[in-house]
Amino acid sequence: MSSKTLDKFLNDNLAELKANGLYNEIDPVQGANGPIIHINGKNLINLSSNNYLGLATDERLKQVAKDAVDSHGAGAGAVRTINGTLDLHIELEKKLAEFKGTEAVISYQSGFNCNMAAISAVMDKHDAILSDELNHASIIDGCRLSKAKIIRFAHSDMDDLRLKAKEAVESGQYNKIMVITDGVFSMDGDIAKLPEIVEIAEEFDLITYVDDAHGSGVLGKGAGTVKHFGLQDKVDFQMGTLSKAIGVIGGYVAGKANLIDWLKVRSRPFLFSTAVSPADAAASKKAIEILMESTELHDKLWENGNYLKDGLKKLGFDIGNSETPITPCIIGEEKAAQEFSKRLFEEGVYAKSIVFPTVPRGTGRVRNMPTAAHTKEMLDEAIQVYEKVGKEMGLI
Ligand SMILES: *Cc1c(COP(=O)(O)O)cnc(C)c1O
Repeated sequence: MSSKTLDKFLNDNLAELKANGLYNEIDPVQGANGPIIHINGKNLINLSSNNYLGLATDERLKQVAKDAVDSHGAGAGAVRTINGTLDLHIELEKKLAEFKGTEAVISYQSGFNCNMAAISAVMDKHDAILSDELNHASIIDGCRLSKAKIIRFAHSDMDDLRLKAKEAVESGQYNKIMVITDGVFSMDGDIAKLPEIVEIAEEFDLITYVDDAHGSGVLGKGAGTVKHFGLQDKVDFQMGTLSKAIGVIGGYVAGKANLIDWLKVRSRPFLFSTAVSPADAAASKKAIEILMESTELHDKLWENGNYLKDGLKKLGFDIGNSETPITPCIIGEEKAAQEFSKRLFEEGVYAKSIVFPTVPRGTGRVRNMPTAAHTKEMLDEAIQVYEKVGKEMGLI
């Protein structure tokens, strides 16, 4: 017997989402998540992944993952602090610290979990966190979990940040104050104003935390947004994910040795949840090595990103103000964005609509994620489909 109250709650709310075009249908992908994917027997040009560098299907990563299964098994076997810290985890962290230019790194099971872990290990109810209003859901949840006072500032508005930092300091209510931001905002592709943020942080002695999930592998020749601005010594927490450009799974914080030591004894997902599998750790480390050896994939990503952006802009689409390969195509009304994405699908392009609550109401969009693995032919074909569907729907 299921609860009647629960049934009513679920059915009413699901029906409302569906009626408002806010219900996201999930498409199962048959086979690997590469530049061409297979869904419901159809071959599609994939412009929806976060696999920026194509590493998710890279042969070199696949090989080391297989080798790690042979040498270390399928799972880590325990929580890191009990006996699940494998040599592979340590090697991955060392490699990441080298790549990021920091004293040390701690790795987690995912980027989401990393934000839940790291923020609340340092901040508590006597503290305040200044948070960009467009920060990722995992930052918001991590802040909430810490019980610190959350003070939102207008998106990338440095006057508002300075004002709110000043108010927070002058109130004398808080022991510690942190400023936290995405490095790259994934819905619009704009970059956080880190030089100004760091300047304000120095003025008011704020702890700085940059979530670089979309900057790692993409900016700073691959090392991320902080490196892009040359601020490695000025940012306390450089958080990143191994699931996007790195192509595998996992999250991490790069920072000073004392911070990483503290996170190893105080962050709960590190203490109470098993680490990533040997294959994940080995493949992630290989990806970092590839990025440190050559900028070939990074350069190809940017070339493809610029090519797609130029093509869509020339057709007259509103591609917003992206400063990275992320290419939104802003449609506006939620249902129109969903219809646009559906028509692209029928014509062979997989670019998902993103609507409220992921982005503000009335800014429904189709977001394109070109990668290093796309060929010019694939991008040309996608641009042609955009033209056809855009004209048909009266958008261009
Ligand atoms: C994707 C993302 C995360 C979560 O990373 P996962 O490793 O996929 O859990 C965290 N923060 C931001 C800004 C992201 O875009």
